Amino acid sequence: MSKTAVITGSTSGIGLAIAKALAKTGANIVLNGFGKPEEISSVTDEVAGLTTGTVLHHPADMTKPDEIAELMATAASRFGGTDILVNNAGVQFVEKIEDFPVEQWDRIIAINLSSSFHTIRAAVPAMKRKGWGRIINIASAHGLVASPFKSAYVAAKHGIMGLTKTVALEVAENGITVNSICPGYVLTPLVEKQIPDQARTRGITEEQVINEVMLKGQPTKKFVTVEQVASLALYLASDEAAQITGTHVSIDGGWTAQ
Ligand code: NAD
Repeated sequence: MSKTAVITGSTSGIGLAIAKALAKTGANIVLNGFGKPEEISSVTDEVAGLTTGTVLHHPADMTKPDEIAELMATAASRFGGTDILVNNAGVQFVEKIEDFPVEQWDRIIAINLSSSFHTIRAAVPAMKRKGWGRIINIASAHGLVASPFKSAYVAAKHGIMGLTKTVALEVAENGITVNSICPGYVLTPLVEKQIPDQARTRGITEEQVINEVMLKGQPTKKFVTVEQVASLALYLASDEAAQITGTHVSIDGGWTAQ
């Protein structure tokens, strides 16, 4: 029977690349994320063209626990549960701690951390019944190290690393693995949006942000690609990765080796 994957924040960037990679295995795919209706239907059609399974989009807002519950209930009622859960939705906000807006702190903690608590607690019972499951949390190099002006993001990403380890221990005997992926800078809309913000906060040009801030810490001096992150997720979702659990895999061009 084909597997069912739920990927939060999969209308763009890394999440979309992971959805496409999992679709190619024949899985049912539950997409989630924002976008204009025509963009969402085009992404849904594109992913549907890659799988023999069924693809649907659920619009749950990751700041809203009741909508997250509906997303997970949809996967359960349509496909009998979530086999592969990828917690990917994430947002960024860059500001000095003393000027960091409280509502941005709350929003980032909700989307980048708490939403994973809500999806995981809903997904685990069916995974336990089946004796198989894969939970992949898209953390960041910022789950391991910090950068200035990203207090909420770094706090949330460190938090998801702890959640990963805790749940992995709880479900270790149930055939369920729980891991984080820690990418360095991947050129996606999320990163592109940060370039002008960082230029403003630091008082430098956008070119300097790319070369002297973003890729300064990435020894390969190259952005990670979304396809590279998707390949790693595909591996962690496989049977071969059954003994990898409660840990993280870095894909950061050497960033956190320093
Ligand atoms: P992106 O902006 O391209 O995509 C983010 C996705 O999340 C979109 O589909 C968007 O619609 C969705 N989203 C945003 N807010 C949402 C909400 N409230 N509810 C539901 N969906 C919502 O970003 P990306 O760069 O692909 O990032 C994906 C993940 O990877 C994030 O968790 C991010 O922190 C992490 N990450 C990214 C990088 C990078 O350099 N791009 C590096 C490390 C980690």
